[in-house]
Amino acid sequence: MKKIFSVIIGIFFIQCLMAQLKQWEIASPLDFETTLSGSFAEMRRNHFHGGLDLRTNGEENKHVYSIDDGYVAKISISRTGYGKCAYINHPNGYTSVYGHLNGFVPKLDSLLKAKQYGEHKYEVELILDSAQYTVKKGELFAISGNTGASGGPHVHFEIRETATGIMRNPFLLKNNPYNIADDKEPKIYGIKIYGLNGKGSINDQAEQKCKVIVDKDRSRKVQVGDGLYGWGKIGFSVKASDYMTGTSFTYTPRHLRLYAEDKLISDITIDSFLFKDTRGSNSFIDYKQWATSREFFMKSFKNTNSPIVFQEEQPKGTFTINKEKEYKFRYEVEDDFGNKDQIEFVITGKKTDYQPIKLPDDQFIKCGESVLFDKGSFAMQFPQNALYEDVEHRFTCDSSAKFLSNIYSIGSKTDPLHVFCDISIKIEHDTIEDKSKYYIAKLNDLNVQSGSAGGTYVNGILVGKTNTFGRFAVATDVTPPVIAPVHTNKLRNAPYIRLKIYDTQSGIASYDAYIDDKWILFEYDSKTQQITYWLDKKMVKEFSNHTLKLVVKDYCGNVKEYSKQIYW
Ligand SMILES: [Zn+2]
Repeated sequence: MKKIFSVIIGIFFIQCLMAQLKQWEIASPLDFETTLSGSFAEMRRNHFHGGLDLRTNGEENKHVYSIDDGYVAKISISRTGYGKCAYINHPNGYTSVYGHLNGFVPKLDSLLKAKQYGEHKYEVELILDSAQYTVKKGELFAISGNTGASGGPHVHFEIRETATGIMRNPFLLKNNPYNIADDKEPKIYGIKIYGLNGKGSINDQAEQKCKVIVDKDRSRKVQVGDGLYGWGKIGFSVKASDYMTGTSFTYTPRHLRLYAEDKLISDITIDSFLFKDTRGSNSFIDYKQWATSREFFMKSFKNTNSPIVFQEEQPKGTFTINKEKEYKFRYEVEDDFGNKDQIEFVITGKKTDYQPIKLPDDQFIKCGESVLFDKGSFAMQFPQNALYEDVEHRFTCDSSAKFLSNIYSIGSKTDPLHVFCDISIKIEHDTIEDKSKYYIAKLNDLNVQSGSAGGTYVNGILVGKTNTFGRFAVATDVTPPVIAPVHTNKLRNAPYIRLKIYDTQSGIASYDAYIDDKWILFEYDSKTQQITYWLDKKMVKEFSNHTLKLVVKDYCGNVKEYSKQIYW
């Protein structure tokens, strides 16, 4: 009873918040008209895009304003992802988020710098209480930039429910203060049909991919040689893009509707997801197709163990063909502004002898439960919600002269993982005295390193973490990181110091820079591998000589030092 009661309260609370959202009138974060270079919940590599990308005319350092009254609750600084990012909490239960910023107004900037200088770190999280920095609707608090994983100057703007972290479509709000209009239709480019759970087939196969083509009479059709025929339980996915007035960018449509025999069998509105489950986009798309061709086919049926909240469980989005007749289907997609596209297709019911190959259960890693996959010298621990479906383990072990362990392969690049899993590998040649030099290398098909899974040494075993399947082996890193000066001379002309730092094996773990033995704040940008210090005459005396010292460490504890006399 108590549980039912709290569920009812929960639903009531969510509905109240939703109603608030739809009544919410906000100010624009920018003071000029803009177009979007990204829209809400667009499919991206390993995540849904969390908000709107507001373009800033190809320029940085534009004023950024709070969309409503509230207080700055958090500033987070990262060398990747959101870069320099601000979170403003509003009294209606929502948080607005502003990413890839260059900086903040002086009072916020000094709070941030105090934290960074206090911790001797660029990447920090500054948490503020409701009294520390309040803002009014339309108040300037930051300047825009291109920091973090940003491919050009813009402001990344999000709306989240403060308490739950649920991300909401900013176009659900009452007003659209960015002056964005759109009369361009989305377009459907392809569909895929799947025989599901070994209980169905399409054209005598497990799946069939079809392009949408423009026919001679200019009508658009699903292209399939001699037509589509199927039997049993089938599912569907669609590849579609949306377009907007005044830009050449592409977006994801908001609504996907699938009709079978004129009956709506799946009605999806991509309007919300949990921040912690943004990687769940990999369960919404046909991940195998994406990993093979980089195409996003969005599925109308839900995976067995999917974290997607906007999708209903199966049998929604599936259909059973059990008669030898023609079945009519129709896909419809719609964008945020009511523009639509649709495509019709026919599947003929035809009994077949098709039998999918059924592998024994022990060939699979089960989804929805915590699994320790243990092969003695190799083990991987899957937390409960690591997998969206059961995954064929395809485990192999090959001896290696190049690495200090065997080379282990598990799963496939075409199988997604939702979270990081612990991975442990026995070191076959444990000869190095300094155990901190070991790490787990991720390998490509040619056994060349493509990444690092880190690693801690425990009694002849290395324990690391991975959020991808693939090939793994233990390697050593005894090479210090590389430091290359980019701008360290003529500082009177351009008052900043910039260097490139990188490490091709275990990766950069930390860096510390000093001028005349005093720690100074270098900002780190992962995409350029560069660190920059903006010279500040309050910190460093002008028109005089100084000693710059830089110390860079990798994850295996190798250290590189650099020093130089500078004049500023
Ligand atoms: Zn963005």
